[in-house]
Amino acid sequence: MPSPPATLRLILGDQLNPNHSWFRRAERRVAYVLMEVRQETDYVKHHVQKVAAFFAAMRAFAAYLSAAGHRVLYLRLDDPQNRQSIPANIRNLLRAGKFERFEYLLPDEHRLDLQLKELAAALPVPSAAVDTEHFLTERRELGELFAGKKRFLMESFYRRMRKRCGILMDGDKPAGGSWNFDAENRSPYDGRVPIPVPLVFENDVRDIAAMAAAAKVATFGEIDAARLPWPIDRTQALALLSAFIRDGLPHFGTYQDAMSLHSGSLFHSRLSFALNTKMLHPLEVIEACVQARQEAPRRIGLHQVEGFVRQILGWREYMRGVYWALMPDFAQMNYLGHDLPLPDFYWTGETRMRCLAEAVGQSLRSAYAHHIQRLMVTGNFALLAGVHPDEVDAWYLGVYIDAVQWVELPNTRAMSQFADGGRVATKPYVSSANYIRRMSDYCGACAYDAGKRAGGGACPFNSLYWEFFARHRETFASNPRIGMMIRTWDRVAAAERKRILKQAESYRADINKL
Ligand code: FAD
Ligand code: SF4
Repeated sequence: MPSPPATLRLILGDQLNPNHSWFRRAERRVAYVLMEVRQETDYVKHHVQKVAAFFAAMRAFAAYLSAAGHRVLYLRLDDPQNRQSIPANIRNLLRAGKFERFEYLLPDEHRLDLQLKELAAALPVPSAAVDTEHFLTERRELGELFAGKKRFLMESFYRRMRKRCGILMDGDKPAGGSWNFDAENRSPYDGRVPIPVPLVFENDVRDIAAMAAAAKVATFGEIDAARLPWPIDRTQALALLSAFIRDGLPHFGTYQDAMSLHSGSLFHSRLSFALNTKMLHPLEVIEACVQARQEAPRRIGLHQVEGFVRQILGWREYMRGVYWALMPDFAQMNYLGHDLPLPDFYWTGETRMRCLAEAVGQSLRSAYAHHIQRLMVTGNFALLAGVHPDEVDAWYLGVYIDAVQWVELPNTRAMSQFADGGRVATKPYVSSANYIRRMSDYCGACAYDAGKRAGGGACPFNSLYWEFFARHRETFASNPRIGMMIRTWDRVAAAERKRILKQAESYRADINKL
């Protein structure tokens, strides 16, 4: 039998899936390549922990594959042979290694998808793109499901996924008789149960941090490089999953929307980095949670598990589908025509608004904030202020440990900034101080007064909130969920409306001083 062609296989930094069929057995004529490249460190300014965590996880994965007998080529950022772009490195390696074939795993980002397609088409050897075996849906599935529809309904997508995967189902009915348990979920944190201490790892990434600094990779945020807290291999990722099931899951749904000065993660799993790098498979996370409930139904209520399953089986897969349905135009959408630069305090955390100081400060310190901090504090403020979605996107894509474009962009541009004109969200996620006051303990510790709309010390969220509806009244007048707010605004006495608008105008004019 002729020997198979000598093959070079590319693994990207977010494709660290040890259970992929590629790795079932070591093949003599196959070499795997992973590379640290400026192309990836520089396309947006990243949090320093994000750069370190991706490189550390890639190095750990390369070591794992080598130990399993695979042939692995690893290009460090400071390797003199490194051409710092994926196509240039691939061309170089193909020449040097006399490879007769090139294969790659399908990238999740449009930018890389295009780049690798173009590269493959231009190579002198045959090539193939292979599925990552990670997601539960096909790239184009959501777009096809909602073809011709104005809105992509997450709820109907989620119910289909529940049925298709047989998760939390009694035959063809939802377990417990309901698809969602929102009424039991979403309480503020009331101290009834102690907040779990997050499981953190102490990965020593000093060499990576020093290498990135020596190469003058522009980063921001803080790092203790002797103790990087994020999981960098599957063993650590599984430990984080177990810790979540033990400590977080029993109260996840109840407190999933709560925010607290006492904890930046409360009962959230902090699994997004492990999931997005594919160290964990979404179905194994879901099944582990469902099984934990089966074993301890009195300790872990159905509503807690459903709340969590919805995030991964619903939102995560849905957002990926939205991304592929709307790209590449998606990345340019700005439905509301917003154009303000991002306020400076997003880069420093220095503001007297306690909610923003907490959410931004925590993000800069730890490269993490939970969903409601992202949506209802930093995202809400940027939307109310009228910040350009490009600036908002660049910040979210840089700051979070889990930020990869396929999931960051739909969450930021569509869900949080309404820049898609409402395909994802039925209404803009804006709120006055009321929501933050109800769901957190931030307002009691703030220099501003959550109860005031205008005048000395009035909370900026309040006047900006009403001014948002006044500014966009024509756009939203026919939206049934927003029209009511506009009518409420119209009922406010004219003098008071004037005072509120004046307050908003002065806050926006001096936004960096808030
Ligand atoms: P948990 O609350 O424990 O949820 C479990 C898992 O569910 C998460 O790890 C995540 O994989 C998934 N999930 C939950 N909500 C969503 C969602 N809305 N979309 C997709 N998956 C979800 N998530 C990212 O992974 N990367 C991003 O870059 C990102 N950017 C965001 C930007 C904005 C403006 C907003 C509002 C949300 C963003 N999210 C992003 C979604 C969500 O906030 C994070 O997935 C979550 O906070 C990660 O923390 P966790 O692992 O503790 O999540
Ligand atoms: Fe934020 Fe306003 Fe509450 Fe202060 S009063 S924490 S600015 S919502």
